[in-house]
Amino acid sequence: MSKIFFTPGPAQLYPTVESHVFNALKENIGSISHRGKQFQVIYQEVDQNIRALLGVPQDFKIFFTGSATEIWERILQNTVESHSTHFVNGSFSKKFYEFSTELGNTATKFEVPFGSGFDINTYEIPSETELICVTHNETSSGVMMPANDIHTLRAKNPNAIIAVDAVSSVPYPQFDFTAIDSVFFSVQKGMGLPAGLGVWMVNDRCIEKANALKAKGKSIGTYHSLPSLLSNGSKFETPSTPNVFGIYLLAKVTGDMLQKGADTIRKETDLKASKLYAFAEKSPLLDIFVQNPAHRSPTVVVANTTGEASDLIAKLKTKNIVLGAGYGNYKDKQVRIANFPAVSVEQVDWLIEELSKV
Ligand SMILES: *Cc1c(COP(=O)(O)O)cnc(C)c1O
Repeated sequence: MSKIFFTPGPAQLYPTVESHVFNALKENIGSISHRGKQFQVIYQEVDQNIRALLGVPQDFKIFFTGSATEIWERILQNTVESHSTHFVNGSFSKKFYEFSTELGNTATKFEVPFGSGFDINTYEIPSETELICVTHNETSSGVMMPANDIHTLRAKNPNAIIAVDAVSSVPYPQFDFTAIDSVFFSVQKGMGLPAGLGVWMVNDRCIEKANALKAKGKSIGTYHSLPSLLSNGSKFETPSTPNVFGIYLLAKVTGDMLQKGADTIRKETDLKASKLYAFAEKSPLLDIFVQNPAHRSPTVVVANTTGEASDLIAKLKTKNIVLGAGYGNYKDKQVRIANFPAVSVEQVDWLIEELSKV
């Protein structure tokens, strides 16, 4: 019997992936040129689908990289001469911050304890900030920053570029793209695909900043600098040979998600999340980790375990259910349950039923 993965990435594959992999092989997707018409059509298809799924306007460009980790580095290289500011509340947002200092920038960090979110309007962002970095969904702790909180940053910081890491929430969030400048994700979480592809959306402000830094003589990287991505991307090509297989699968799966409907996916995510949190609330095995209900992630549910987390994970494994362990130091004390579009309402019901039997 095949397993079902509630791990927060790599995660359960979207149910249609198997047939798309089969078709990709039939269509020789692993062998086609990335400088030919067939690839351009695939890139165009992804571009259109992502715009429709996430509401991305035409003045944003969509580029591909190797991972979201790569995008942390690229956006810092391309939009920061000296100062970035970061909202840090877990391991992913912290790494983004550390990348900035490693690249030689001065970085301001607003940090709250693991499991907490931000009261966003209480922070005074330094006026010299060129890039504000927010993590929409902190995958390590299960805290989601409400999209509307992110949108309020623009009014007080009109000159800074605002970048949103939405790796473990896409396609759930509905961003106001007039209030932010860049959103990025990788595909092995909410998109339900094999890892190895980052998707980077940027507006003209990001590209203009990169050009300005380059003109000043600052290094903005080479093949995956924004001007290089733009020069190839405007022809629906990429600077280097990309993960064509992954891009093809993303085109097909985003098409399937559109068929289902972005709103239906969001409603189902909310329904499944409410079932999971309601169960965790009353189960003697679990305690909801994130105290503030407004900051509880619908896409990654984190709970403290009353016993050893590894025991619970092992018990579920015998039922072919794979739960995520706690992140880092919380490995033995927490479970993380991904609630991505690839898992159905029925599968969440089944998980809850099996948990109730433990
Ligand atoms: C997983 C994750 C990343 C890193 O993604 P990679 O594809 O492994 O580079 C970045 N940010 C968040 C919030 C994540 O969950």
